[in-house]
Amino acid sequence: MAVYAAPVQDLIDELGRLPGIGPKSAQRIAFHLLKLQRADAARLANAIVEAKDKVTFCSQCFNIAEGSGESEALCSICLDERRDATVLCVVEEPRDIVAVEKTSEFRGRYHVLQGAISPIEGVGPDQLRVKELLVRLEDERVQEIILCTNPNIEGEATALYLARLLKPIGLRVTRIASGLPVGGDLEYADELTLGRALEGRRDVEG
Ligand SMILES: [Zn+2]
Repeated sequence: MAVYAAPVQDLIDELGRLPGIGPKSAQRIAFHLLKLQRADAARLANAIVEAKDKVTFCSQCFNIAEGSGESEALCSICLDERRDATVLCVVEEPRDIVAVEKTSEFRGRYHVLQGAISPIEGVGPDQLRVKELLVRLEDERVQEIILCTNPNIEGEATALYLARLLKPIGLRVTRIASGLPVGGDLEYADELTLGRALEGRRDVEG
């Protein structure tokens, strides 16, 4: 027998699909939403739909870009001719671009993998934007790839995989320096620490 009325259970189920939201949190948020004024609930629902309608992923680097889902859009960084096209910083998520940009240490371009290799979660290279990265390397004048994945198990495994894949192409492949909090996410590193990690990046052995 269902514990909650169907619409409530649907809401809990949907919230439970969000990253980092367990069943308990999903219930708590659902009951919070039920207490909202209708106008406040509508504003939240609307913000989600608006973002989905007006924001898409950059067709070149997979950063967030303005545009509808169907059209080929480029992000503001890919559109900026002043950015150094010879250096690509490879990150896991668009939010990592924000973290690197805040350091003001990097003037090159980016490539967002949209995740990291994680055998436990069934994520392999095929689920990431690795193919798209290789295509870019054929067409663009990239000379150095900075592996800027998170300093945790998944991020390190991803960096190692990419280093083995990219070194034979004859590019300079570097990894951000250690000194970042191990096991953490880039987005939690302060600007100074991440800036130093970028500056102190090392060549990866092939
Ligand atoms: Zn882009």
